[in-house]
Amino acid sequence: MTFSIHGLAVARGIAIGKAVLVASSRVDVAHYFIKPAQVEEELARITQARNAVMAEVQRLHQSVPKDAPPELPALLEVHMMLLQDELLADGVKHWVTDRLYNAEWALTSQLEVVARQFDDMEDAYLRERKGDLEQVVERLLRHMKGLPTSLPQPAGRKPSSARQQEQLLDESHDAPLVLVAHDLSPADMLQFKQSVFTGFVTDVGGKTSHTAIVARSLDIPAVVGARSASHLVQQDDWVIIDGDAGVIIVDPSPFILAEYVFKQRQAELERERLVHLRHTPAVTLDGQSIHLLANIELPEDTQLAVEMGAVGVGLFRSEFLFMGRDGKLPNEEEQYQAYKRAVEGMQGLPVTIRSVDVGADKPLDRTVKEQAHLNPALGLRAIRWSLADPGMFLSQLRAILRAAAHGQVNLLIPMLGHAKEIKQTLHWLAHARAQLEKKSIPYGPLRVGAMIEVPAAALSLPLFLKHFDFLSVGTNDLIQYTLAIDRADEQVAHLYDPLHPAILHLLADTIAQGAAAGKEVALCGEMAGDPALTRLLIGLGLRYFSMHPTQILRVKQEVLRCDAQRLAPWAQFVMQAEDPAAEMLLR
Ligand code: PEP
Ligand code: MG
Repeated sequence: MTFSIHGLAVARGIAIGKAVLVASSRVDVAHYFIKPAQVEEELARITQARNAVMAEVQRLHQSVPKDAPPELPALLEVHMMLLQDELLADGVKHWVTDRLYNAEWALTSQLEVVARQFDDMEDAYLRERKGDLEQVVERLLRHMKGLPTSLPQPAGRKPSSARQQEQLLDESHDAPLVLVAHDLSPADMLQFKQSVFTGFVTDVGGKTSHTAIVARSLDIPAVVGARSASHLVQQDDWVIIDGDAGVIIVDPSPFILAEYVFKQRQAELERERLVHLRHTPAVTLDGQSIHLLANIELPEDTQLAVEMGAVGVGLFRSEFLFMGRDGKLPNEEEQYQAYKRAVEGMQGLPVTIRSVDVGADKPLDRTVKEQAHLNPALGLRAIRWSLADPGMFLSQLRAILRAAAHGQVNLLIPMLGHAKEIKQTLHWLAHARAQLEKKSIPYGPLRVGAMIEVPAAALSLPLFLKHFDFLSVGTNDLIQYTLAIDRADEQVAHLYDPLHPAILHLLADTIAQGAAAGKEVALCGEMAGDPALTRLLIGLGLRYFSMHPTQILRVKQEVLRCDAQRLAPWAQFVMQAEDPAAEMLLR
């Protein structure tokens, strides 16, 4: 039966494919297709893991002390039984043989199927055995990864259907796949850059959460904040992800499917048409040059940035080099090599590297959660985190200074709010320079900029303009902190409003004061990449826009239609309106 689920549109386009449900705790499991010739080898890996885990559980069972609680041997017996369970083994074999999934992916896919069947059981005791099944699969996965096979905590699970198991068995492996998960961290999402998935859905997350930002950079249709999608969608359901409307259509009828296939084709044609604008300079009708820069997460993203005609990198979120490494930070040399690759990748165009901005919804590691009773968005994040660990900060600064010997590099500091933070930051920068000098290590000149993303900064512009060469407005956070709306919380997403008059005033003021001081002001939040806002931002005087490379051509198309001079009075009018969004629609 067809039904739809509504969430938040984060990455444009239409994806049509079969759902792959991935438990949030297992998104770091590798997902790739194997070749038909590798099937036997892949099945052998699973058998080998199963035998090894079985032997270990048997050993544990035999060594249970006599005075141990009776539940303990019983639990191990359940695990042994599950390891030999045919439903698990046959299902896994199906995913590998018929779908050509790699062993780990096959295991987790079958876990999802069987777990739902456990959920449907009437008997509470049997229902609870799902946790055991999860632990068994976890042990197998850990064995395959070469990790100790201790028992982790089970994840919560979802309802199920029996029809699904039958359906699974007669499908071919070449259908496009879309990923459905309760939650994905930004680092998880990044891992999917080279993945087999053509679309993403998550239950949680706001439009400018970092997970959504990375999804947007993948240029794959994505919907976040879809509440209970991972409960309602079943493994292998056909789904349509409408990334423009933020809607997921499950089990579409042939009529709806045809409609969306048509829409998908239209979007592809639009994309092909825009490619012709790649080398067209972004100049308004009245001759104003607009600088369209790229936001990147990894040095390799520079390739797409250049392809899309970016005139530089306006924001390299360096924290992605720090994530998903089990808390082990990249050293100076690793960072230097990464920054150098980005600089070289931009072929002489400027690269703005932001010092590490972890914390809030960007934990270094998925397992490292801040204390639940604290508010991480107001905690030790971004520059506060760097200043709290000068050794780490210095090594990043030295790496950036060294990369500047290879091209034009700007350093951007996130989340500054206080004069003393500015002083400390500049002090450590001078210190890093002196350290390199002392060791005669080559380094280059840096322009240093500050992000304006805390209202306190937007209200202390003379201080920032005095100490920095340029400013970059981080509207994602500026909106979050000005409106007191958690950017990652879908429950308050309707109040997260880039067009709130307070935001527009802070933005306009920053642009105007920057211009008066002769300093460049860029915007690198998600607003910069929204073509619906291009006219307004140009009217407010913005000339430097930094966005995902995939958004550049759409924004450029708007730029080419703008008359900056004529837009200026209109933008002032919109900003003064009680409801700027409504005012924009009237135009
Ligand atoms: C912002 O806050 O607007 C920004 C660009 O930084 P981030 O999204 O990484 O917090
Ligand atoms: Mg920010």
